[in-house]
Amino acid sequence: MNLVVASPTGLCFGVRRAIEQLEKALGQYGTVYSLGSPIHNPQEVGRLAGLGLKLVENASDVPTESISFVRAHGVARDELVDLSERSRVVVDGTCPFVRTAHERAETLSSEGYRIVVVGDSNHPEVRGILGYIDGESLVIAGAEEIDSGARYGRLGILSQTTQKESSLAAVVAKLVLITGEVKVYNTICRATIERQESIQRLAPQVDGIVVIGGKNSANTRKLVEIAESLSVSTLWIEHSGELDRRWLEGKRSIGVAAGGSTPDWLIKDLKEKLQTL
Ligand code: SF4
Repeated sequence: MNLVVASPTGLCFGVRRAIEQLEKALGQYGTVYSLGSPIHNPQEVGRLAGLGLKLVENASDVPTESISFVRAHGVARDELVDLSERSRVVVDGTCPFVRTAHERAETLSSEGYRIVVVGDSNHPEVRGILGYIDGESLVIAGAEEIDSGARYGRLGILSQTTQKESSLAAVVAKLVLITGEVKVYNTICRATIERQESIQRLAPQVDGIVVIGGKNSANTRKLVEIAESLSVSTLWIEHSGELDRRWLEGKRSIGVAAGGSTPDWLIKDLKEKLQTL
């Protein structure tokens, strides 16, 4: 059986960096409190919990004088201050690309722009970005949400890092027609898009694709949807123990792709299992 691994695939730079920081802190301090799950992968969270990771929902849930961790999505400015006041040490795993979005939001806000964030208003990264804006702001998921009859003064536009470039472009194209002044920062990171493009390239080369990643991971789900839309037989698993021998039957060439929150050890384990089979 021929095995082809999508490239790039698996952990993006920001999540890898944050997990490395977290592992180092766990080794140094034993117990670390993370604000929200550090990664959308149950197996990796289980492994980190075994090293001393504790999950909390809010800064106020972190015991005073303990060690806290901010995941790659980042948090709002006030929450970071709150966390710093309670904790002995804050390990800040905010991805540098997300940090740039915070800085852009702060800059636009200080320049007096009303800010438009293109993204999902419920996503923690977007809530974090909004926490760096002092004036007015709105979050829109796409150009279809814009009322063409509305009129705006000065708008500053930026994006959640994982949005499609086409969405940001469509929003800008529509707003520029109904606004006196527009300033745009493209804060999109290409890591997610590159992983989606890699599975598109992989699909025509193989008889089936195994996508490995958390069932709670939105970007893994997206990879599965792309593979299925390309009519290639697709199997979504969280770990190699879920491989189905019957699914493999008759396939001479298998592709492997992993979500942006799937750790290397799970991918390695899957490749070894496929080679054995
Ligand atoms: S997807 Fe991009 S912005 Fe988000 S954590 Fe990964 S590298 Fe950072």
